[in-house]
Amino acid sequence: MIIHNITNGLKNQTVTQLSEKADAGWDKMEAEMKKISASGNDISAQRIKAAEFKYWVEIEYEKYNISVYAKAARKILENVKKHIDEKKMHKCTQCAGELPINVYSFMAINIKCDSCGSVNTYQPDDRVRVLEYYVINHLAEEHAFSEKLRSRTDKNAMKEYWKKYYGYLMENVPDKKEFYQRQMEERLNNPFFTAFS
Ligand SMILES: [Zn+2]
Repeated sequence: MIIHNITNGLKNQTVTQLSEKADAGWDKMEAEMKKISASGNDISAQRIKAAEFKYWVEIEYEKYNISVYAKAARKILENVKKHIDEKKMHKCTQCAGELPINVYSFMAINIKCDSCGSVNTYQPDDRVRVLEYYVINHLAEEHAFSEKLRSRTDKNAMKEYWKKYYGYLMENVPDKKEFYQRQMEERLNNPFFTAFS
């Protein structure tokens, strides 16, 4: 929440306000150039500079934004790892037999005890559960960032972005592989997600 508020404020001060200044500055400059009867070519050459500046500030902001979230994600992961005991055994509620449960699970699962046959429901640790959105999701965005940037000018890159983004999620959240696979296919096959890149 804090990062979101800060980056939003920063975006307003950089991308939004500086772009408005570039536009306002350009309007004045264009008027001045017309007064001195500058050629259409000279005017276009200057107009491009304003557009380039606006593009630059937007891209720099995007890069910064993605890196801040990725840094926070690594920090959160580091902290969670310190508090999660990977070797902790989960025991059957009926017979205290050991249950083969992966600590880094993201969904509740029903697991049958090998010793007594009773079904135990395992709820992942809340600190592990939040990793999916607050950590893995942001690392996936970082992983696929260059494709996302390219998609601004190259329509095919949007599909590469989805593949890379979901590929990362499927690899790191294997419990939900099928879910992400379906989402990815929906995006790859639905023109709505690729046409407006
Ligand atoms: Zn049991």
